[in-house]
Amino acid sequence: MKSLVLSVDRNTWESTTGYTLESVADPELNEKTNPADAEAALIEPIYAGVCGTDKGIWYRKAFRDPILKFLEKDGVGYRIAGHEMVGRITALGSKAEARSSYKIGDIVSAESHLYCGICNACLVGNFHVCENERIIGVTADGVFAERTKLPVNVLWPTDIEKICPEIAAIQEPFGNAVHACIPFDGSDLRGCSVVVFGCGTIGLFSILIAQELGARQIIGVEPNPKNQKLAKACGADIVLEPSEVNPKTIQSLTGGTGADYCLEMSGHPISLQNAIKVSGNGSHIVLFGLSTSDLVVPNFQSFILQGKSIHAVIGRKIFTTWKRVKKLLEDKSNGIQEKIWKVILEEGKGSIVNLKDFRADDWEDRMQRYAKILVKIS
Ligand SMILES: [Zn+2]
Ligand SMILES: [Zn+2]
Repeated sequence: MKSLVLSVDRNTWESTTGYTLESVADPELNEKTNPADAEAALIEPIYAGVCGTDKGIWYRKAFRDPILKFLEKDGVGYRIAGHEMVGRITALGSKAEARSSYKIGDIVSAESHLYCGICNACLVGNFHVCENERIIGVTADGVFAERTKLPVNVLWPTDIEKICPEIAAIQEPFGNAVHACIPFDGSDLRGCSVVVFGCGTIGLFSILIAQELGARQIIGVEPNPKNQKLAKACGADIVLEPSEVNPKTIQSLTGGTGADYCLEMSGHPISLQNAIKVSGNGSHIVLFGLSTSDLVVPNFQSFILQGKSIHAVIGRKIFTTWKRVKKLLEDKSNGIQEKIWKVILEEGKGSIVNLKDFRADDWEDRMQRYAKILVKIS
């Protein structure tokens, strides 16, 4: 079968970029040699999403150590990339068929974090931070392929009559934004002033979600002119350059209170400092953007004295966040699907690539030009 693979080892990590289109062996369910296959499914992806993680791997800027560790552990020379998809079930292991309600032909999306179910985090329901996790397309084979094999406990039933397939393929990253907007019990965005630092794909999703969840005002912070435009089209009231962000500006925009909620989606170290500076007393700061540098919190004691909270968000709650995703996307009256299709996916004009037509230079060019690209697989 055709698939996009990352073919790399310790010696070639630094000197290469990108994925290659290869013909590789089909995955199969063989319960005799691999008992775990009894609880797995074979799936034909229809569409897959390309995300920031894939971009980081493409340029060899992210996930070096886990990728190399698991390639060596598994004794394989390549990893099939991709972790966001919607697809059709074509085969089920014996226990998967008996214990789940899935049937051949069902349409599913998938949680990208494969979890063990028995570590301390899993035992208390924090499957998304499983201590033994693998991530599909990173440390396990992924979905940029004509067929993929996944455990049924990460599948999510999807109705493509209600969520169009192109958007159903990106429920996973949309879920990141939902998770960030509802990060902890008892808080919500109703009536809040929200500042979104970094209006890339997840920041744009967050703007759509914050509006639907009742934010009073949404301020975007973004240096890239194209993303500034997209942020406004998604519903941001105003979009500032990072250099324009200071307590005085945010106070005047928020009627003197400062931000109630800051979503740090850029991973830029200065953004966290800015978020702390511009947020009001008792506010919440949600961290989603990844940074490899050390972060300094200036005037740390005022941060405590003003009762500000910082929350780190990774992945999605499995599967409570997915339920919120389903509700937000299936309810067409909120306009979220339409905005994702028209604004973020630009109606598929140039943002959708056929797997079999993959060319590295074309892919790289599209990754730069579009907020989100999709791979059409079948
Ligand atoms: Zn992703
Ligand atoms: Zn676990």
